[in-house]
Amino acid sequence: MKRMYHMVRQILSGKRAINNSIKYLLVCSGVALVHLCFAISFAAVHVMPLAIYNIASTAFYFFHATVTNRKKQYMFIYISAVTEVLFHSCMTTLLLGWDWGFMIYAIVMIPISFYLAYTLPNHEGGIVSPMVSSGVVILCFNVVHAICRHTTGFYEGKYPVNMSVAFYYFNATVAFLILLTFSILFALEIRYMQRRLEQENDTLEEVAKTDPLTHLLNRRSMNGYMAQVVNQRKTFCLMMADIDDFKKVNDTYGHDCGDEVLIAVSNIISCCVREDDYVCRWGGEEILILVRTDLTLAAQVAERIRQRVASKVISRKGKEVRVTITIGVSEYHNGMSIQSMIEEADQKLYRGKNNGKNQVIA
Ligand code: GH3
Ligand code: MG
Ligand code: MG
Repeated sequence: MKRMYHMVRQILSGKRAINNSIKYLLVCSGVALVHLCFAISFAAVHVMPLAIYNIASTAFYFFHATVTNRKKQYMFIYISAVTEVLFHSCMTTLLLGWDWGFMIYAIVMIPISFYLAYTLPNHEGGIVSPMVSSGVVILCFNVVHAICRHTTGFYEGKYPVNMSVAFYYFNATVAFLILLTFSILFALEIRYMQRRLEQENDTLEEVAKTDPLTHLLNRRSMNGYMAQVVNQRKTFCLMMADIDDFKKVNDTYGHDCGDEVLIAVSNIISCCVREDDYVCRWGGEEILILVRTDLTLAAQVAERIRQRVASKVISRKGKEVRVTITIGVSEYHNGMSIQSMIEEADQKLYRGKNNGKNQVIA
């Protein structure tokens, strides 16, 4: 019971899909219930052929709700339900007369057949089958109306007018309730799909922004962020960091180990900067960092990164790998371009490399 309540709450909030099994169970049991009401009513007013027909169709929908639904033969349920409802509407109207309101169910079948066909697995029903069934509904509706105008039904006139009026209101109310139920299901379905689409968009956006190995920003997204920060015209610095002798790490311990080192260094850098700073994998083992501080503070951050990287020991297959990093830092001054800032940081980085590596040049 608690699980059921939880499931309904999730469906209502758009966090869970209404699966086909639930949907067809709802459809089949709803229609079975309506047919059962008809069977009882027709038996009560002694229209025995219709009472028997409705007992049979109640059993038919009960079978669908259990056996066919469990076998996931939704297409079969869909086609047989549309056909049966249309047949029942036409047959009952021709026997009893137009005023009993049974043709209302035929109209209701149009939106429902589109909904059911569209939500069939893999859109198996497509748009063609509901269009065909709608065409048949329109045709039957008009033909039955024309026949009713020119002939009298087999049972027509045998019952008091208030009986047909009672049936008319019952049929109209049930038809409205069916439409309402399906409109709600449809709205919930759209809400769920919209939510899923938003989540998938967020994931895709995240994937498009980041480097798959280090999960740092990639060059493309970093360019966008740097352009935004330049437009703000506030103090910031760029740091170009490059792992020292990384080729040797690959050559000595293998490429996989090199990847691990790269990840570890990226994590250290991400931990040393603030949430609103940006860290990007600029090239192979080059990392570009944007910090929203002046040169003095940026140099301190860079030094902290250098020390943490130097003291980090990466254990791999019983071996201990240590690396160092060299960082060049440039500060933004009004009118400077990102390109010239990167060039300045790069020049400082290479000064550091030529000076013996494992150092910060601010
Ligand atoms: P320096 O101190 O001058 O920077 O020397 P270095 O060896 O680090 O520089 P070099 O540019 O000669 O070599 C960089 C190496 O980084 C070569 C390349 O194979 C390696 N590399 C680049 N991207 C990756 C990667 O994604 N994974 C691994 N494992 N290695 C990478
Ligand atoms: Mg290097
Ligand atoms: Mg390099």
